Amino acid sequence: MALTDKFGRAITDLRVSVTDRCNFRCVYCRSAENTMAHENLLEWDEYERLVRILVGMGIRKVRVTGGEPLVRPGIESFIGRLKALGVRDLSMTTNGHLLAERCDKLIAAGLDRINISLDSLDREKFERVTRTKAFDQVMAGIDAAQNSSLRPVKVNAVLVRGLNDDEVEAFAEFARERELIMRFIEFMPLDADRAWTRAMMVPAAEVYRRISARWTLVPVVHERSETARKYRFADGRGEIGLIAPVTQAFCGFCSRIRLTADGKLRTCLFSKDDHDLKLLVRGGATDREIGDEILSIVAQKEKGHRINEPDFVPPSRTMVYIGG
Ligand code: SAM
Repeated sequence: MALTDKFGRAITDLRVSVTDRCNFRCVYCRSAENTMAHENLLEWDEYERLVRILVGMGIRKVRVTGGEPLVRPGIESFIGRLKALGVRDLSMTTNGHLLAERCDKLIAAGLDRINISLDSLDREKFERVTRTKAFDQVMAGIDAAQNSSLRPVKVNAVLVRGLNDDEVEAFAEFARERELIMRFIEFMPLDADRAWTRAMMVPAAEVYRRISARWTLVPVVHERSETARKYRFADGRGEIGLIAPVTQAFCGFCSRIRLTADGKLRTCLFSKDDHDLKLLVRGGATDREIGDEILSIVAQKEKGHRINEPDFVPPSRTMVYIGG
């Protein structure tokens, strides 16, 4: 049975969080080190079984994320196991810290695409944002990926007013120089410190205005379910993507569900509740029973997030526990 929700949206994309651990402490994401107990995290076999069931129900794209996926031992062979399940488009979101030395193995295992997070091109600011000294390693990770079959790499920056919004043009230059895809993401109310305010967010329209004031941008066709509005530079290489979940929500064409590291299925980043598949897996449920449960969870997928509604309440789980 294919996965479709009650609004007729086909669900074809799965984000799999393989850990809630991260080797960065980004100021806008997570400050304290609260991690889930190891026994609460899914084992690789459990992930594989759930993904196999989901692929049988129409999931075609899988993005592996976290926490930081590269800190979990065994990630390369997990990528290989996912590929063997017939996942057509297999990607990863990483902070890039451990990427340079792992890139070849990930590609050999079957990784098709990669997104690397980078919130500043300025070493000192990068260190302040991530609370690490990993700038050179991340740059090396971007280079390694860009010099491989993963090219063109997508580099993701979350813009936070007063923190890195002065770097919009520099990021655009970076995309042009390195011939990569630079994506600007609106800051969402999913931070662990609950400090988000609308004033901290930099709207995608402002990013578009500023970049197009310097360079002529040409729209690039995108699939309706894609999160980014894409543009290339009329006079050069590289591309930008604007991801505007707050100011231009794209829920109407959402094709995504998420599996958390502790085995919960979420139908929206902002879902109030998640659904415990680990309980079923560890309780001896058959594939059929798990599949039926997934069908009924997906049918109830929310119409959209409610960030802009007066009664919006942020979810109890924050980005690092959901999987970005
Ligand atoms: N560790 C990996 C990484 O850094 O890419 C994967 C997980 S991380 C949670 C995924 C992405 O979510 C990162 O690009 C991060 O910047 C972004 N992110 C975290 N908190 C966010 C928020 N409140 N709003 C928007 N994006 C956020």
